[in-house]
Amino acid sequence: MRRLAAAVALLAAVVITGCSSSGGGDSQVVATTTEVGDMTRQVAGDRVHVEQILRPGSDPHEYEPRPSDAQALAHAKLVIRSGGDVDGWLDPLVREAGSDADVLTLIDHVQRHGDDPHWWQDPRNGEAAVGAIRDALIRADPDGAATYRANAARYIGQLRALDAGIARCVAQVPPGERKLVTSHDSLGYYARRYGFTIVGAAIPSRSSQAQPSAAATQRLIDQIKREHVPAIFPESALNPKLEQAIAREAGARVAGALWADSLGPEGSSGATYIGSLAANTQTIVSALTGGRVSCRL
Ligand SMILES: [Zn+2]
Repeated sequence: MRRLAAAVALLAAVVITGCSSSGGGDSQVVATTTEVGDMTRQVAGDRVHVEQILRPGSDPHEYEPRPSDAQALAHAKLVIRSGGDVDGWLDPLVREAGSDADVLTLIDHVQRHGDDPHWWQDPRNGEAAVGAIRDALIRADPDGAATYRANAARYIGQLRALDAGIARCVAQVPPGERKLVTSHDSLGYYARRYGFTIVGAAIPSRSSQAQPSAAATQRLIDQIKREHVPAIFPESALNPKLEQAIAREAGARVAGALWADSLGPEGSSGATYIGSLAANTQTIVSALTGGRVSCRL
C-alpha cells in the first residue's frame, strides 16, 4: 500500500497545483494492459484518446502505479481493464484517485476459466471483449456510435480470420506434439482453444511473481524428459534464466520468446494484439516441429 499512498499524495499535489503538465490530463478513456490498450484503440480510432497505463514489455502482474496513472484516472470518463491478477492494482488506485469513471472489466464479458486472467490468448475472447469495448464507448460517447460500430466490425473480422488461421496452422502439428512449457502459466486459454497440453511452467503459477521450489523445478525437468518436449518457451517480458537452466537439465531447447502478458514495442512482431498471437503461433509450431511446420498468418 505504500506505493499507492505515494501515488495518491502526488495526485493530491497535482490537483492542488492544477493539472497543467503533460500526460493523462485530457484523457477520457484509460486502458490498463497493452492488449486492452490496443483493442480499445482499434475501436476508438481517432475519435477518442486512449491513455494506456502499461508500457510495452512490462510485466502487468508486478506493475507499480505511477502518479501519472492516478492523474489519468481522475480525469477519465471510462476505464477499461483486463481483470483478475494482471491489473489487480487498479481497484485501490481508482478509489483513492476519487475517480467517478465507469469501469469496464473485460474478463466479465468473455468465456472465463476460473481465476486464470490470461483470457486474451483465445481470440474468440478477444472478439467478445471488443464487443464490450464498443458498447462501453457508445455509452460514454453516443454521438460516436456509428464510428465505434464500424471500427469494431472491421476489427472483429480480422480477429475471426486470425483465429481460423491459427487453427489451420496448428492442425499441421500432430496432436501428440502439441506440448507447451512456458515461463509462467499464461497460455491456458491458447492451449484450450487450439488443442495443446500444458506440460508445465518454470514458474508454476498464474502470476509471474510466484517462486518455484527446487522440488517443483526438478519435477518439471523430469516431465520434460519423460514426454520428450523439444522446446521451452520463455516470455518476452520475463528474464529467461530459469528457462535456460531447465532446458539445459532436461535436454530441451530454449525457443523464441512468446508475447505472453505484454505486447512488444512498435516495430516488433508483438506490437499489436493480432500480431502477438500470430507471432506466438509461428514460434510455437516451428519450435515443436523442428521447423517442419511454418505458417504465414
Ligand atoms: Zn500472467
